Amino acid sequence: MPSTNVCKICRRLGQKVMLKGDKCLSPKCTMVKRPYAPGPKKKRGRGGAMSEYGKELAEKQKLQKYYGLREKQFGHYVKGILHRRGKVEDATLLLIRQLEGRLDNVVFRLGIAKSRVEARQLVSHSHFLVNGKPVNIPSFQTKKGMVISVKPSKNQKIIFKNLSATWKNFNPPSWLKLDKEKMEGTILSQPLAEEVGSTVDITAIFEFYSR
Ligand code: SF4
Repeated sequence: MPSTNVCKICRRLGQKVMLKGDKCLSPKCTMVKRPYAPGPKKKRGRGGAMSEYGKELAEKQKLQKYYGLREKQFGHYVKGILHRRGKVEDATLLLIRQLEGRLDNVVFRLGIAKSRVEARQLVSHSHFLVNGKPVNIPSFQTKKGMVISVKPSKNQKIIFKNLSATWKNFNPPSWLKLDKEKMEGTILSQPLAEEVGSTVDITAIFEFYSR
């Protein structure tokens, strides 16, 4: 997808969904320069309050794009939790944990990839081991105690050779431990919802899929 289109997703949703790596954290972020919906000025302020459905759809889109998932993949997580309704203590937390626990997300959170899109590519091109075994499924659910490492046969690739510079001032979230020497990360615990840094109303997403 061309970069301009990627940034249009953020502009349309009115929220930074972090799809462009370093650029997202810099003043060059398109949402800093043009924090309004794309398109002709006349059409931007369409007026009128957004319907409940529209609000729920917007929240769903934000989280789906944040994790870079297709509708079907994202719906699978939410519907799976709704199906277990009554048997799940905290549906919001469970959804966040399932999304954060994806192997592609963990690779991104470890600072190995600059975006989840890049992390997904690296995982599907078979660059990683989980507990010493190759895993090339981006949606693979990691669990506490699992160790994610770069395959020894791949660690001379330029992206991994540059990691020492990338990691210079980098610290992963508290639920992950990063061993910069060994190029491996360990899942210490499950993430807390507040660590994710998303401002999405997850209750609205469950409402959307309950319709
Ligand atoms: Fe583009 Fe990233 Fe900014 Fe979104 S957050 S507008 S993807 S640079």
